[in-house]
Formats: sequence, C-alpha cells, structure tokens
Amino acid sequence: MEQALEILRKTFGYDDFRHNQADIIQTLLAGNDALALMPTGGGKSLCYQIPAICRPGTGIIISPLIALMQDQVDALKQLGISCAFINSTLDRESQREIERALANDELDLLYIAPERLLNEYTLSLLERCQIALFAIDEAHCVSQWGHDFRPEYQRLSLLHQRFSHVPRIALTATADETTRNEIISQLDLHQASTFISSFDRENLCYQIVEGHKGRDQLWQFLEKEHPHDAGIVYCLSRKKVEQVAEWLSGKGRVALPYHAGLSDSLRQQHQKRFLREEEVIIVATIAFGMGIDKPDVRFVAHLSLPKSIEAYYQETGRAGRDGLPANTWMNYGLQDVISLRQMMQSSEAADTYKRVSMQKLEAMLGLCESAVCRRQTVLAYFGETLTEACGNCDNCLSPPELWDASEAAQKALSCVYRSGQRFGVNYLINILRGKLDERIQAHGHDLLSTFGIGADDSMQHWRTLYRQLIALGYLEVDPEGYGALRLTEKCRPLLRGETGLKLRRQRMADKSTGRRKRRQTAEILDEDQPLFSDLRSLRKEFADAQGVPPYVIFHDTTLAAIAQHRPGDTAALLDIPGIGQHKLEHYGERVIEVVRDHIMSA
Ligand code: ADP
Ligand code: ZN
Repeated sequence: MEQALEILRKTFGYDDFRHNQADIIQTLLAGNDALALMPTGGGKSLCYQIPAICRPGTGIIISPLIALMQDQVDALKQLGISCAFINSTLDRESQREIERALANDELDLLYIAPERLLNEYTLSLLERCQIALFAIDEAHCVSQWGHDFRPEYQRLSLLHQRFSHVPRIALTATADETTRNEIISQLDLHQASTFISSFDRENLCYQIVEGHKGRDQLWQFLEKEHPHDAGIVYCLSRKKVEQVAEWLSGKGRVALPYHAGLSDSLRQQHQKRFLREEEVIIVATIAFGMGIDKPDVRFVAHLSLPKSIEAYYQETGRAGRDGLPANTWMNYGLQDVISLRQMMQSSEAADTYKRVSMQKLEAMLGLCESAVCRRQTVLAYFGETLTEACGNCDNCLSPPELWDASEAAQKALSCVYRSGQRFGVNYLINILRGKLDERIQAHGHDLLSTFGIGADDSMQHWRTLYRQLIALGYLEVDPEGYGALRLTEKCRPLLRGETGLKLRRQRMADKSTGRRKRRQTAEILDEDQPLFSDLRSLRKEFADAQGVPPYVIFHDTTLAAIAQHRPGDTAALLDIPGIGQHKLEHYGERVIEVVRDHIMSA
C-alpha cells in the first residue's frame, strides 16, 4: 500500500484516497476480486489504475465506450503513464505496434473494447502476456434490463475461466440492488468483495421548478447562474432540441444540437466542440451523455421530465464530475405530466414492464411535487438514508409553502365526475370558472353544480392543481380519450371528506432560491478570477498544441487552487491537487510565470 500511496501523490498529485479507494486497491493488490459501486465522479478509475501500475504486467480495462478511450489514454499520458487502447478505430499497423508493446511488457494499462477482447486472437495473445488485472468498467452493461445492455458483456465470465489467477474488478455507477446481483452472477464474481460508496453527489444543487414558459425560466436560470459555463440542456424530442439550440444561439450563447437524427459527422463535431472549447452548451435528447467524461459540466438542465428517478439521477449526474459546485435544474408542467401518463398507459409493452414503468414514473412525479429535501428523497429511493436535510436543494434553500387544498381538490374532482369523465383539463377549467361557451352549453354543463364554483381563482391556479392531482395519482389520463381525465380509487376518501390534501404552492418563476448553506468546494473569489482566466487561456494553448481537450491538461479544480494559493515556485506547485511530477516538468515553469505576472501587476 505504501507504493500505492506514493503513486497517488507523485503521479496523480493527490494527497489521500477517498471513498473506498484504499480498500479496493488493497483487495486487488492482494490478488483478489472486487466489485465497486461508486457514483459518477467518485474516482473509480484510480481503483484499477494504481494497482495496475503497482502489479507486474499490464492492466486490461474493458470498456464499451470507444469514443472515450482516446481521451482516457491522452489523460494518462499527461501523467507519464504508459498506456494504449485497442478498438475498431485503430488501423492495422497501430494495432500491431500496440501488440508488440504489450508482449514486451511495456504497457501499464491497455483499454480494450469487449468485442475485441473476446475474439480468440486477442485472448490467446493475452495468455502469452503478463496481466496485472482485468477491470470491467460500466459493468451494469451486463444487465438485460438496463438501457445500456451489451450482449458481449455476458460472455466476460470467460475471463475467470481462462485467467483464473488474474484479479478482476467490476465497476459501475448504477446503484440498484437488482443490477448489482446481476453483475455478480453474470460475471461470476461470487468471491469478490463488494464496496458500495454513498451515492450522494454533494456538490450538485438540485432544483425542480414547475409551470409553463419553461424556456424563459431556463433563460433566467442561465443568466443568473451560468452566464459563461458549459452545460447540457435535455429535451424530449429532436424537434425541440433543434428549436431550443437555435433559440439559445439567437440569444448569444454557443448552443449545439445533438440527437439521433443528425449525421454521425455532425454529432461528432458537436461533441468535440463541447469537449474542447469552453462555454459550449449542448442541447440534446437523452441519447447524449453516456460516456461523456467532461469533468467541468457546470449545469444539467431538463426541459422535460425524466421517466424515472434513476434516469433523473443519471442525467443530472453528468454535472460536476470534478467535485466543484454544479447545478441541476428541471422544469416541468401540466403537459409533461399528461403526455407521460398517457404514453405509459397506452404502451403496448407487457404488463409487468408497464407496471414497473408506471411505478417508476409515480416515484419521479412524487419527487417533483414533494416539499421535503430532494436529496433525501432521491437517496431514499436508492435505499440510502440521509439523516439531515441537505441544505443544497431548492426545497431546503427556500422551503415551499404548503396550503390546504382539500376543498379546491374536491371541486376539481367533482367537476371531472359530474361532466362524465370524458373531458380534458382546459374544458374542465372552463366549467369551474363559469365560462359560457358554445361547447359547454351544448353539453348542458352550464347547469352542473360545479359550473362557476371556481370563478374566483385564476386559470393558472386550476392548471397547477390539476397537474398536482394527476401527478399524485388522484386522476388518470384516458389513453384513448384525447387527454380526458378520470377519477381513480385514491379519490374516494378525499371526496367524502375523510382525508385532507396539502399541496405545495406554485412558486413564482422569478423567485430566486436563497443563499446556499452548504458549499462543498470553495468557489473562485472575485479577486482570483483574472488569474483563473489567464490560467485557462494558458491551458487552452497547451491543449491545442497537443490536440487534446483542456481538462486533460488540468482540471478546473487544479486551476482554481493555483489561483487561490498562488504558488511562488515550481516546488510549491506540487502541493496543488492534480499536479504530479510529470505535469510539473511539462507545464510548471509556464504556470509559475503566469502567477508571477499577476502578483507583480497587482
Ligand atoms: P468516475 O469514473 O468514478 O466517474 P473518475 O475516476 O473520473 O470518476 O474521477 C473523478 C475525478 O476525481 C477525477 O478528476 C479524478 O482525478 C478525481 N479523483 C479521483 N480520486 C481522487 C482522490 N483520491 N483525490 C482527489 N481527486 C481524486
Ligand atoms: Zn435538500
């Protein structure tokens, strides 16, 4: 372990292990198998990189994310680690060269796509080499039920049969127990020690806002919190992706669309710009994100409702991998709730699947309408208990007001009942507000006892209430009836006055969230900002010269620490997190020059 700690400090430039890193590394060094569950940004890579360097031979990393391998290898080379990758993007000659290096035991790490690993040629090549360990990254890909299923992953248990003496580690950021058990059985990891870290992403601030005009609300959020940051905006459809990207561009932001309808080359180009330039916003369908390793995504915004808390957690989780504060923001409204409910109810899928999807949606809607700490709700969903409210979500920062909605709900529900459970929200609200139009008269609904009983409240008030009643399962949407609402069993006690109903009051769109109580990492102070910007420019210069993304050179956390501590010479730079020997030698002098210039001119 001493050697491992030394590598952590000298090569990676970090002081201490975090989460379960030390225990996991020790397990592998002892030659045993491990299963590591850690949230995104938790630091999974070090868990196999360090033991691969310590142990004799090459560490083989199996990953389905081919697009990522180049960046991973570039980043390791920046640290002076000898590594390579093998996937379908390589030409014959480069592949031969890598095989030669492998056979000569020149590589500490080799990244390889599963289909490449599994062909007989590669397997027998590996049998002739010394292997330090196998790391199976994104191990949840073995699960047939997940959306990242890769059939080749199910064949990886053969590693255990053919290389029984080589320790294996499987890693994933997927939290649920079913997936975990599937990984263990499919990969034959029954003997492995399991390490589960907390899934709390402390540096993420969660915010869920309701109401229409989602775009305008998004703009306010961006102006206020992220005028110059890179981030992701998720939309449900391709069309909306295009519209929102164009609209943001019109407002002066660099916003690029990403969805399955674009050509491969355009998609790649947009992804590359997102990774290599600063301040780029990607507007995407949820197809975008898996395998995006960009550490300094400062916000993830949703203009549509994810279908489950898992999806919400995963998608928001793409923000703030570097551990610096990041925001997650979501807007949803009545229409989202109606369409999602309708989509699920009319789906052709098998009953069990449908039931499970419905339950997942219920939980997601519950999270939206909830008035308690968002983080507590999300973690509880994954079976984790957070004893105190987090102080870093909208509900904690400005607790929503609750109002007694019992009577209003009774009016809204009986209006549905009396008009025959055949109408959609707008029509129902017209009855409640006593609007005498032709359609209402034709149906004789102006004679209903509920006609006009809600005239004192606004259209918006009733829309919010209906949304909440649908979200909370008091009303269901008729799959064939053009959005017609029907009562569910849950209504009875409420209609009979046996129970009451308290709901969160609609927040005004522009009401800002309060001051953050808990900040995990220091923000960059105003006075350090100029130096930080200059360091960023220097970083860009280094990156462009080598054709790699800026974060491969230094993370923002590293630049922020330099701007704050202002090291006076290269030796002092070694105390900055993320600077090890190799980076010191390559960039130290130039960095210190920039710092000195600032101190002189101050
Ligand atoms: P994951 O794969 O779990 O999403 P990574 O391995 O990419 O996470 O690590 C996330 C970030 O945390 C990286 O920038 C990494 O360098 C950093 N990191 C990992 N371990 C440590 C540590 N012990 N101390 C400081 N930073 C760390
Ligand atoms: Zn909270």
